[in-house]
Amino acid sequence: MKLFTAFVLDNEEIMRATNVLTLRAGQVARSASPGQFLHIRCDDGCAPFLRRPMSVYRTERDTIQLMIRDVGAGSARLVRARSGDPLDCLGPLGRGFHLDSHARNVLMVGGGYGVAPLVGLAERAVHQGMSVTLAVGAASAELIFPPSLLPEEVEYLVATDDGSAGHRGYVTDLVGERLAWADAVYACGPLPMMAALARVVRDAAPRKRVQVAMEERMGCAMGVCLGCVIETTRGPLRVCTEGPVFDIRQIVWRDEPAALGTGG
Ligand SMILES: Cc1cc2nc3c(=O)[nH]c(=O)nc-3n(C[C@H](O)[C@H](O)[C@H](O)COP(=O)(O)OP(=O)(O)OC[C@H]3O[C@@H](n4cnc5c(N)ncnc54)[C@H](O)[C@@H]3O)c2cc1C
Repeated sequence: MKLFTAFVLDNEEIMRATNVLTLRAGQVARSASPGQFLHIRCDDGCAPFLRRPMSVYRTERDTIQLMIRDVGAGSARLVRARSGDPLDCLGPLGRGFHLDSHARNVLMVGGGYGVAPLVGLAERAVHQGMSVTLAVGAASAELIFPPSLLPEEVEYLVATDDGSAGHRGYVTDLVGERLAWADAVYACGPLPMMAALARVVRDAAPRKRVQVAMEERMGCAMGVCLGCVIETTRGPLRVCTEGPVFDIRQIVWRDEPAALGTGG
């Protein structure tokens, strides 16, 4: 983990309100893995004061790509970054996904911009000869990750809240029938989606290996401020340090959500 300046090489809008930033990141790019994140200063001034964590979306040689959804003060600044801009970054941080080398079939489940860390993971899995199914959920078709940006070997399943693309309903509706096929499952998305996934797994395949990348607002991202602590079966753990990737059975899900939106 280190503090470094990454220069923006490219900034491309890939779907509504969502850009991919390509950063020259030198050695950091070679050591970063899917599920890890960079903690990025979004403004030279004091607002927003805190850095924002962004998942490693893809890496290639000395570049790191981030997929950023414009939802507020920090992300709005990042999606406006221009080629040549310096970004003050800390990373790579956290424990990423462990790609089980014995797995033949892997199922990935993403909600909203939670698909970001799964794309690089899918590429690695395909490269290792695994069969990959990626199921994504979003509010509507315009917020669905473009399939053209995935390796063609990946089977792609889509669910939208409004039915404008793929299955009308929740992405977790698509998971049950695939669980028996999958040797390992990897997921990232909003809390209600992950809680719903936990219920599906508990009911249909409680021994299945499922890794989830958790999202919590964080301050320091170095394990000091305890702002991102979540409740687990091992007691309180820090998303920034012990996570963001956890075994799904470790997470103590809070109140059952009233609505299981994808947050897309
Ligand atoms: C480990 C990790 C990885 C992440 N990876 C990505 C990524 O790859 N791409 C991406 O676009 N974002 C990612 N995020 C989310 C990102 O860090 C910011 O939280 C998000 O961009 C909102 O920040 P903002 O300054 O734009 O919005 P703010 O102005 O801070 O907030 C805008 C609105 O969003 C709500 N909000 C903000 N953050 C969260 C949150 N974490 N959970 C629930 N509600 C929230 C606020 O309450 C507010 O209503 C990640 C977060 C974590 C913890």
